[in-house]
Order: sequence, then structure tokens, then C-alpha cells
Amino acid sequence: MVAGCSLVLKSVLLAIALTLAVAVQATESPTPIADLLVDRDNNTIPDSLGQTVVVEGWVTVTPSDLSNTSFQTIIEDQSGSGIILFSPSLEMTFERGDRVRARGELSQHRGAPQLKNIEVELVGNESVPSALSVTLASVDGWQHMGKRVQVEGEVGPVSADVFGRMRLSSEDGSVLSLYFPPPVVADFDWQQWPRGSRISVTGVVSIYKQTWPYEGGFQLIVTRPEDIRLLAPPQPAWQRWAQLSIAPASALLVIALFVNYRVQRRAKARAHELATLTALSASFSTEHLDQAQLARSATDILTAYDIAELACVFPGIGAAASATVVFTAHDSEIAESFEAELGRNDPGQDAQAVADFVQRLAATLSLQLIALHPLTSSHDGYGFICAFALQRRKPSALQERTLYAAARLLALALENQRVRHNALIEQQKLHQLVVTDDLTGLYNRRFLDEYLRVQLPLAQRRGSGLAFVALDIDFFKRINDEHGHAAGDRVLAGVAAVLRQTCRSSDLIARVGGEEFLIIINDAEQGTALPFCERIRNEVAASEFDLDGTRINVTVSIGIAIFGVHADDIESLHHAADMALYAAKRAGRNRCAWAAEKAA
Ligand code: GH3
Ligand code: MG
Ligand code: MG
Repeated sequence: MVAGCSLVLKSVLLAIALTLAVAVQATESPTPIADLLVDRDNNTIPDSLGQTVVVEGWVTVTPSDLSNTSFQTIIEDQSGSGIILFSPSLEMTFERGDRVRARGELSQHRGAPQLKNIEVELVGNESVPSALSVTLASVDGWQHMGKRVQVEGEVGPVSADVFGRMRLSSEDGSVLSLYFPPPVVADFDWQQWPRGSRISVTGVVSIYKQTWPYEGGFQLIVTRPEDIRLLAPPQPAWQRWAQLSIAPASALLVIALFVNYRVQRRAKARAHELATLTALSASFSTEHLDQAQLARSATDILTAYDIAELACVFPGIGAAASATVVFTAHDSEIAESFEAELGRNDPGQDAQAVADFVQRLAATLSLQLIALHPLTSSHDGYGFICAFALQRRKPSALQERTLYAAARLLALALENQRVRHNALIEQQKLHQLVVTDDLTGLYNRRFLDEYLRVQLPLAQRRGSGLAFVALDIDFFKRINDEHGHAAGDRVLAGVAAVLRQTCRSSDLIARVGGEEFLIIINDAEQGTALPFCERIRNEVAASEFDLDGTRINVTVSIGIAIFGVHADDIESLHHAADMALYAAKRAGRNRCAWAAEKAA
């Protein structure tokens, strides 16, 4: 009885216990999946790991989505998280979108929460809440692990073989890998979303390859073609190129503008330099400029063309004796101060002294010395050219070059001037040698002939008179005989000196024979010619010549012929004057005689 009673009691108690257990299980409320996440920030596993928990949510990925041998189902709930249900033994027949309740032991799979040893039951199939819309960058983290999210991005490279991969990128540089599991890869038509197009994708966040602690990348498992939506087709190549190239193009434009500005500025500066040097060359090639004038041209042009505020040339050893310090200044006040400094100090011709002087000058006048160049040529130094600027700033390369070129040009011009000047002197000397007589320094017969060839037609044209005066020393042979040939020479030179003193500069005196002279008197008339000749005769007669202590006097005889009166051509005039001279000799010497009247 007791045994029967206890059996009944046992059965009742078991029934009560079973009923209670079913009731407890039925009322056991599900835990929000978000609470089951591994504390990944601190790399720790929550206390609940290993405990039995109940969760409830919608199926988002089924084992057949992933592989034919996969034992994973992913569900998500309203807490914003998903979890893997792992069951190698249980046959999972749930569809995507089914609402299920699962009870199992909390574990983790590669850091993601997972339930194993599960019991799962279908609790409904109301529609799955819409996926959370997130940025591409935010998928790369644990916060959405196991959850369906919707992202937008640009399609990158795609590979579709056993499984599919698509790279999605966003403007901020974030990249996300889409994973298309092997069983579903064939469902997708990749042509619909060509590379470069913009799409919206819904998928489940998971990780790939690496295990806990996480080191790899997050991915989105995409299982249905309808989860991809085309937002915009790829941009045409030119638009893409234009967008890409707008920045480099603007940079290039800025560079081009800058280069153009530099080139223009350089060209302008070069033109200015050329204009300055051309002006210098032009002024230097003006003939008959002496060294001071050349130097003045240089300083004037350098200041006028704004190459210097003040330019100065110091004469050197090779410069003409007359050359002085020459300068030009923009500012009259500076010019005055400069002049005053020059008055106080003469730097002379020594290079070091000049360098010291200009340095001192720059300091005193608060100027900046921008160039000091020697004016050197192949032979000599013609001094120094220096240039000053007002502001204390470095001279430009162009300024320096122009000043250097100016120095070279001026040195050449000074050298040319000196060569020309010397050549002129030499030429004059040579001419003198050719046309004059050594002993007396008077013109010779050659020059007389030249002179008459020009002068006679001139006198004829002007109607002015021209007198031929033939002059011969009386008894000159005797002087040679009594005092020697050298003494005779001295008398010849002495008579020549008297003639030079007595005649006007417009008259021409030539020695035409041993002791014979011819004087051409311009603008002579019959009335004035004779008194003039008498004066000559008297002056000679009055002159005493000292021959080694012996003082002697000489006389001259003179024959006069007037152009147009006594003869009409050079030869006849010579002849007429000679005849008159003989007549004077015959008449007793020391006298003047007229030529015979020309035959009518
Ligand atoms: P007259 O009054 O007739 O002119 O007599 P004269 O002695 O002056 O004339 P003549 O023609 O007989 O002599 C000229 C002399 O002048 C002859 C020559 O020895 C001399 N004689 C010519 N040339 C020179 C010269 O360059 N130097 C010197 N010392 N004598 C010269
Ligand atoms: Mg004589
Ligand atoms: Mg004679």
C-alpha cells in the first residue's frame, strides 16, 4: 500500500515537476543579444560565457546560405545585434526571416557570440525589421557584428569563382569587402553593378580569416541579389578624368601663370638691359668724344635707365691726362654730397685706394655700392666705374650683368678713343714729315704744289688776289764759304724764322730751293703786296745771326707776281716771280721787284 502510495506520489511529483519545468521553460524570457557580446574593447569574455541563455530573433543567414556542410545560422533581434547558432547535430530547417527562439550555451566563434548545444523552435514569421543604415567605415568594427546593415559605396574589383568578393569603397577612403557564399554566388549577375557604379547593399556583418583577438577585416555576407540596389551607373571616363584632373589642372595653370609671369618679367628685364647697352654703344660710337665725354655718357645712361642711382668713373693710369672723375646722380642732393666728398679726398689711381674710397663714400652718403669694375683693356687700365643704389637691397643679377657689360663697353670705347687719338697724332706727324722741310720747318715744294692746286681756283672763284713772292738770300754762297755749311744752315733757319714771324697765318711760306723761298700771300693786291714785301726785306736785313760769336746780317732779294695781273696759271706765276727776282738781283740785290706785266 505504502509502496503503491509512494509510486503514485512519485508519479504525481514527477508530473508536477515536469509541468513546472515546462512552465518555467515557457516563461523563460529571452536575453537581448547585445548583452551577450564579448567585451572586445577590454579583450575579455563576459561572465555569462558557458551559461545557458535563451535568445529570440529573426534568421538572417541560414546554413544552406553559407555552405552545404555549414552548421551556422545567424539570427538578430531588436537589440541591434546578431548571434550565431551552432548545431552540428540538429537539422536546421528554418528559412530566412523566420522568427526563432533558441536556448543554448553561450560561447564565441572568432570573437563573435555563438550559442552551441542549442534547442531551437519556430515562434513566428513576421517580417524582419529593416536593416540599419550605416556608413561604410562603421562596418569595420564590432558594434554591428552579426547585424544586418545597409551601406552605400562605389563598386571596385569583383571576383566570382567558388565564392564571390566585391570591393566597395566610399569617398572618405573606407573600403569594405562583400562576401558572397558559395551556394549563392551563382544567383548574382555582376553586370548589373559594373565597376565604378554606386550601389546600396544589405548584408550581415561578420569577420573573416583571423580568430580572436581580431586582426583581420570585417566583411558583409550578402546572400540575396535583391539586397543590392544600383544607385548610379559608372561616371563616363571623361567626367571621371575631369574630376580627377581638376586639381592637377588648376595646379598646372597656377604654375603656368607663375612661369609666364617670370618669363615676362625676365623678358622685360632683358629688353631693358639690351636697351641700356644699345644706348651705351650708340653714344660711344659718336665720333670725337674725348675720354671724359665717354665716361659722362656712361654715367648718364646708367642712371637714366635706372641701373644705378649714382654712377661714377674714376680715371686710371691709361686715361688721358685731362680725364677727371665723372659722375651722374639721380638726386641733386646726393650729387652735391658726392661732389663735396670728392673735394675732400682724391682717391688717385690706385685700385685699393679707389675701393676704400667708394666704400667710405657709400657709408657716408648712406648709399649701397652695387658695382665697382676696373676699366681694363688689352693694354691699360682706364680707371674704374662704380655704381650705387639708394636702397639697401641686393642688386639684381640683371643689374650686375648690365653694369659689368657697361664696364666692358666703356673700357673698349676708352681704348678705341686712345688708339684713334694716337693714330691722329701719328698721322699729323707723318704728314708734317712729308710736307715740311727738316731744316727750316717750312712747307716744302710738294706741299706748295698741292696747296696751289686747291687755292688758285678758289681765289679765282672768289675773285680775291693771290701774290707769288719769290725770295732768295743774297750772296749766300759766301756765308757757306766763310763760316762753313753748318753756319749757312743756321742762317737759313734764322731767315725762315723771320719770315714766319713777319707773315700772317693765312700766308703760306715754303722753302723751294737751297736758299730760295716762295711766299703765297692770300687776298693780296698790288697796292698791299709791295709794302708787305718791303717789310719782309727790312725785317731780314735788320736781323743779326750769331755764327759762333760772329754776328752777321743777310739781305734778301724779292720778286713779286700777282695772280691775274702778271700771270694766270701756276707755272706762269712761278716764272713771272722768278723773273722779277732775277731783276731784283740784277738791280743790285736787297730789293723788291715787280714781275713784268703780262702780254695783253
Ligand atoms: P746770289 O746773290 O746771286 O743769290 O748769290 P748766291 O751766292 O746766294 O747764289 P748761288 O746760287 O751762287 O749760291 C747758292 C748757294 O747756296 C750754293 C749752295 O752751296 C748753297 N746752298 C744751297 N742749299 C744749301 C743748304 O741747304 N745749306 C747751306 N748751308 N747751303 C746751301
Ligand atoms: Mg742766293
Ligand atoms: Mg739761289
